[in-house]
Amino acid sequence: MPSAPRPSRWSRRSFLALGGGALLAATASSAAPPPEWDVAVVGAGPAGLAAARGLHDRGLRVVVLEARDRVGGQVFTDRSLGPVPVELGAGLIHGADASTWELVAETGARTARMRSDRSESPPLDLSRAPRGDEDAAAYLRRLGVPESHWPPLEVDGEPLERWSARWVHDTGVFDWWSAPREDFRVPDGYDRLLAPLSAGPVVALRSPVRLVRRGPAGVEVGVAGRGRPVRARRCVLALPLGVLRSGSVRFEPGLPAGHRDAVAALEATDAVKLVYLFDRPVLPADRDALDGDGAVVWSVSRAPEAVSVWAAGERARDLLSRDPDERFAEGLRVLAGAVGGPVPAPVGRITHDWAADGYSRGAYLHVPPGAHDAPAALAAPVGRTLFFAGEAVTGENTVDGAYDSGYAVAYDLSADL
Ligand SMILES: Cc1cc2nc3c(=O)[nH]c(=O)nc-3n(C[C@H](O)[C@H](O)[C@H](O)COP(=O)(O)OP(=O)(O)OC[C@H]3O[C@@H](n4cnc5c(N)ncnc54)[C@H](O)[C@@H]3O)c2cc1C
Repeated sequence: MPSAPRPSRWSRRSFLALGGGALLAATASSAAPPPEWDVAVVGAGPAGLAAARGLHDRGLRVVVLEARDRVGGQVFTDRSLGPVPVELGAGLIHGADASTWELVAETGARTARMRSDRSESPPLDLSRAPRGDEDAAAYLRRLGVPESHWPPLEVDGEPLERWSARWVHDTGVFDWWSAPREDFRVPDGYDRLLAPLSAGPVVALRSPVRLVRRGPAGVEVGVAGRGRPVRARRCVLALPLGVLRSGSVRFEPGLPAGHRDAVAALEATDAVKLVYLFDRPVLPADRDALDGDGAVVWSVSRAPEAVSVWAAGERARDLLSRDPDERFAEGLRVLAGAVGGPVPAPVGRITHDWAADGYSRGAYLHVPPGAHDAPAALAAPVGRTLFFAGEAVTGENTVDGAYDSGYAVAYDLSADL
């Protein structure tokens, strides 16, 4: 690959601008056939799909092994609730500068800006750097920032005590909270944005990977229920942190200590959405998001009226500990509190438990005190054979972060092939 400076953020545009699509002819005429595939990508979330599409555009032979019967991972648009597509995972494009807007342009998907009553918090003076393993709450206290000026919500539901101060400081999370921010939903379904990424590479659904064995010729990837392993010259692992932590995918030889430590140091927090369909309006006409009792109430659709009660961290764990009927009843109580009056009985409801989902095993990635170097440690390739992409290497929990990381790994990996 050319030796142009790496961009700080990736996208298909930057990948192609740096020569990402230029290898096609060279590969086609190269004499030595690859073992079976040039690259096996494990996991078809936004990160795995972006990596696969980037590598495919380089003319490489790419197979994506996905455990579920669908692509998208935590981008999970459910269409079982009548005419309204429901996002049980990612629902928003965060900010007008997210790299995934190129997918909006390519698919022609409609977007709608969320109107929120969220108040902006005052900017924080963070000129003094955090100390080594300090947590984010201790850091703000040391700076003398009054609690009334702390970010309006805990970061993704986990108290600031449970976040690495260095991580949130260095990655600009505090700025992100205090800056005015626009969020956008994709009314016809977030999953539509991923369609261009799956066009090209071979995507094998219902292919849960159990074993990744490295050898001199590349990797052998063992898939449950398949007799023969998938052989490839390189492997991209785009798995959720919870899956990496669970040990459900075995590595032979085992991952190096730096990678194992990074996986152990990071954490996945919980998140849940309780989605209700009503036969009449429930939310005020001029608001698409309201805060309510440790949760956030979002509009999913206006006609028909569909509403999502979202919670993360401790509040999500509280909801997930209840049986489903109680969970939905508590969500309705939150909704009634947020709108300041009784709400009608819903005509439909749906939810998804990401913690109990064996191919996710948790929701948002979370960087605890002391773990600030873990995402970068995990991003280092192992023997130029295994490459990592996705939330766990970005330390972020956004679709665009995962998408960028897929293109970044496609760029790095192409340097060798
Ligand atoms: C409730 C919720 C709400 C969210 N809201 C937003 C939002 O509004 N905006 C936003 O930008 N982000 C949001 N996110 C975060 C966003 O969805 C993730 O950051 C993003 O999907 C991460 O992409 P990824 O490719 O790294 O991982 P994932 O999307 O988790 O994809 C990993 C893939 O690996 C597959 N897999 C797992 N195990 C195996 C195996 N053994 N073999 C093969 N395949 C396997 C999984 O099935 C999955 O397809 C939300 C997440 C959740 C859970």
